[in-house]
Amino acid sequence: MAIRDRVAQLLTEMPKEPQFPTQGATVFIDLERREVSRAYTPLRVAKALLAGRGANMFYLYRLLDEALEPLHPDIPLIFGSGVLTGIVPSAARGNATSWSPESGVLMDSNAGDYFPSFIRMNGIDHIVLFGRAAAWTMLRIKGGEIEFMDGEPYRGLDNIDLRERIPQDIGGKWDRDLAMVNVTVAGENQVLCSAIMGGPKACYARGGPGAKMGSLKVKAIVVQGQTRDFETAQPYKSYNRTIAQKLLETSVVKHALKTMGTPFLYKPSRLLGAMGTKNNQETTWTDKLDAENITPYRPGMSGCFRCPVNCRPLNEMNQDPADKYGRGDGPEYVTLGKFGPNVGISQIESVIRLNNICNDLGLDTASTGSTIAWALELYQRGIITKEHTGGIELNWGDAGTIEKLLFMLTRREGFGNVLADSTRAVEKGHYPPEALKYRMAVKGLMQSDPHDARILKAFALGLAVATRGMDHLRNRVTLEINARINDDPAFKERLYGSPVSAAPNSYETKERAVRACENTYAVGDSVGMCRFTTKLFNSPSLPGLEEFAVQIKNVTGLDYSEPELDRVG
Ligand code: SF4
Repeated sequence: MAIRDRVAQLLTEMPKEPQFPTQGATVFIDLERREVSRAYTPLRVAKALLAGRGANMFYLYRLLDEALEPLHPDIPLIFGSGVLTGIVPSAARGNATSWSPESGVLMDSNAGDYFPSFIRMNGIDHIVLFGRAAAWTMLRIKGGEIEFMDGEPYRGLDNIDLRERIPQDIGGKWDRDLAMVNVTVAGENQVLCSAIMGGPKACYARGGPGAKMGSLKVKAIVVQGQTRDFETAQPYKSYNRTIAQKLLETSVVKHALKTMGTPFLYKPSRLLGAMGTKNNQETTWTDKLDAENITPYRPGMSGCFRCPVNCRPLNEMNQDPADKYGRGDGPEYVTLGKFGPNVGISQIESVIRLNNICNDLGLDTASTGSTIAWALELYQRGIITKEHTGGIELNWGDAGTIEKLLFMLTRREGFGNVLADSTRAVEKGHYPPEALKYRMAVKGLMQSDPHDARILKAFALGLAVATRGMDHLRNRVTLEINARINDDPAFKERLYGSPVSAAPNSYETKERAVRACENTYAVGDSVGMCRFTTKLFNSPSLPGLEEFAVQIKNVTGLDYSEPELDRVG
């Protein structure tokens, strides 16, 4: 059945009015015919799956034809914001969901910044894109209405230039009344490790979202409009204060996330010998990349819509306007790990510069860094040679060559075309089958987390079973490396709902902790809460199912017990 028929059938089952206070519409956009339909997620679906990632899965399940290739225009690309997105502090997130051109399994990615909150301000919870536009298209959302605009003038622009052009052309100011998701040249060229950018750095990564959006010929979705308060089922602001207080009083937020962002994780990882180094051939690396060494280049912190944490470190290495990559947003810990130890780079300035380039080129730093590290190891072992690379020498720590490769990759030039096929390089005939032995991937997706998970069995199990492939954000049991929790078996049992071995390198009972994290994080993505500020990911004291249940009730009127929310997860 063609997707148009699937959508038509689905629409007959969907109500035309909101089913609870604050529910936004689901907008189906037929890009080929330039037609828009809207309806609301049925109450039984919302009760079972909430919104965001949860309801996105419902839409994908109903609309997916698994016989088609992921880049086929009948495979939809679905954006969805959580039921608390834009309303609760740190709930600034939304998901982009499809079938992955990179891995060939589920593509589902979460990002923050302003877009997920701003679509909700426009009365929209989900956007379902399908069909291929006849020409490059930009969608504008204003006052809840969808307008098709010519995307051709923006073709060929990467993130920095596009974000400069849009306010000039259509008005508005980023973060005040303007937000956007967009592809870069990498997405236009269907680079499999390309992301959909959601801000200067925020992006929907993992699985090739940029390639998917580019294949539909959508350059950007721009959303305009003033921020506003929502009419909720019950007053919610006083409980928002409780949540904000909980966030700001949590030690890891106060002393690490708020002051230096996620790079604080680098030091404990390398000290533990759990730092993926040189494509996981080694497990520790230099102290020159510790977060303290980024401090001289950090002019301040930034954040997502109405998030009091502001965990995003900005960087400034110079004030020379001619140096496009002398300043930017980030790096996060993932980028630090993937463009530091994993490719053998030990100068912090090089990592920051490569981070700024990846943000501009719209690249998923986890997949891209891992793809380059894979090539470096293959070259080191003689499995690929200069014949494969077009004469380029690949050496660990050669930041100049890696920078050049990023630009080649985005344009699919020479060896860049090989890297642009990411984990699929063997399948596409670029590398010999032996190369697969050194590919750090599960289900066709490169590892996201810079950790070397071999000594941390719960981490390893999580990476092995994560729904979208080798990724830590679905279920990482970060607290496995918290000695105070491991020393308190009763507390650990309460945290995960059943006893879990205290030894991080034990295989016993780790599935219980992974399951608890998987369920909690899935609910977090369905309400729109940031992973960094969700219980179990960075701390046992951050908001979790209990707080989500209270605020879901206040905002939507839907009633859940904690075990019921666990089942939603
Ligand atoms: S904690 Fe950081 S990434 Fe998460 S919503 Fe807040 S500012 Fe954004």
